[in-house]
Amino acid sequence: MNPQYVQANRMIPHWIAGRADGGSNSRHGEVFDPARGVVTRHVVLGDGADVGRAVAAAAAALPPWQALSPARRARVMFKFRELAERHAGDFARLITAEHGKTLADARGEVQRGIEVVEFACGIPQLLKGQHSPAIGGGIDHWSQRQALGVVAGITPFNFPFMVPMWMAPLALACGNTFVLKPSERDPSPALLIAELLREAGLPDGCFNVVQGDKEAVDALLDHPEVQAVSFVGSTPVAQSIQTSGVRHGKRVQALGGAKNHLVVMPDADLDDAAAALAGAAYGSAGERCMAVSVAVAVGACAEPLIERLLARATQLKVGAGTAPDTDMGPLVTAAARERVKGHIAAGQREGARLLLDGREGVPDGCRDGFFLGPTLFDHVTPDMSVYQTEIFGPVLCVVRVPDFAAAVELVNRNRYANGVACFTRDGGTAQAFVRRIDVGMVGINVPIPVPMAWHSFGGWKASLFGDHAIYGEEGVRFYTRYKTVMQRWPDAQAQAHGLSMPTHG
Ligand code: NAD
Repeated sequence: MNPQYVQANRMIPHWIAGRADGGSNSRHGEVFDPARGVVTRHVVLGDGADVGRAVAAAAAALPPWQALSPARRARVMFKFRELAERHAGDFARLITAEHGKTLADARGEVQRGIEVVEFACGIPQLLKGQHSPAIGGGIDHWSQRQALGVVAGITPFNFPFMVPMWMAPLALACGNTFVLKPSERDPSPALLIAELLREAGLPDGCFNVVQGDKEAVDALLDHPEVQAVSFVGSTPVAQSIQTSGVRHGKRVQALGGAKNHLVVMPDADLDDAAAALAGAAYGSAGERCMAVSVAVAVGACAEPLIERLLARATQLKVGAGTAPDTDMGPLVTAAARERVKGHIAAGQREGARLLLDGREGVPDGCRDGFFLGPTLFDHVTPDMSVYQTEIFGPVLCVVRVPDFAAAVELVNRNRYANGVACFTRDGGTAQAFVRRIDVGMVGINVPIPVPMAWHSFGGWKASLFGDHAIYGEEGVRFYTRYKTVMQRWPDAQAQAHGLSMPTHG
């Protein structure tokens, strides 16, 4: 199959009611090739009218989709899974073209997204209710989960395939219809998702894409027909989406930013810890919500750890994501690179020791793209802005602490609480870490503990607003309402209808 809308149009459209839609707004955004620093295409930016059409299409498609048996909805997901797998290379190329990450990294993203589709294929089992037959007086009693209606997803630039997959497959499999507002930085993968869902047999209108920015998001939040909003992005926007969504009576899950720590104990395998840190800090140029941006060096391990880290960081090859030997691609935009450069300058002013300066680590052939080399700071303290801010770039800060208790206290005082890791060879330390750390996702000798699809993903504190983590069983709960039923048939055992509180037993 030729993904027609993805390749043919220089103006990237919406997808509404099963077809590309040019939109009613005259505004459009630029889409870059971050490796070359040039605008390759434009994307329409949706307004209230575009959102209105998408929600109307989703509302019209809802009754027949909801009425299908879960097994038949699952069959669409099975087929979509097969198509997504077949087009994994197309997705990866689109991601690299608009985001800049390496092709290998993009393939990894596609794989992790497909795993959530696989989980959604099990929806008949996941939607099974609980049954209590004959609770008394001829009554059977059960509970079931029912879809919410039209739901929306708003996603960030850094995982343009995986994060929409955290939302749409489960929402659809549960019987909802969906409107996706992807990031305007890399809008194309959303359209290939739409095309493949259609090819998989999803009826028109069940999955819609409205391209755009804040204007489209605000219209989704205002729309009375939208029952729930899943958001993944930065913390300030997550917080405002939750406030606004709840004010409009919607169910909201809003995942925000992060400042993930990796604690290295003196007994850890330091080669392993340094390799884990380099991968987790500089992979995808640090543009991951689970990137490690703080290395917490406990006790005497600081010097040997930094020596190993420097050796690894200086060997990383910076270049275009399409080149086979590239370790680290560019940042997503020039503005992102300038923002990260500003953080590096602030770290220097505040007295952190700059051991490796990414502003000087860009190879000659990469001058036009949005590149920045790996950056390493030592002697960072918690009052510095480089420690407090989510930099979202290839910058790793080493904080030295005297002991385990100080490491736990440091992590627990941070406002973010997405992911954390501890590298140690001691079982007791690992056990105490898991118990005492106030963070949603924990790795022991695992640097990026992104949960598998059948668990759920979610940070704590300023990394998640709302009551539900995303995908896994938490996702099923988020996209359904709980309903309980008591049923009696008149010809069953007679029951007196009195005025007292019914006791059926
Ligand atoms: P962002 O918050 O700028 O944008 C996210 C989405 O919100 C986009 O679709 C964007 O168009 C929209 N948006 C932006 N500003 C808005 C506003 N003022 N009002 C309404 N909508 C707005 O985030 P980003 O730069 O695309 O992505 C990077 C951020 O996402 C980082 O902070 C990263 O940690 C976070 N993130 C978190 C997770 C997680 O699971 N917790 C996963 C991926 C990314």
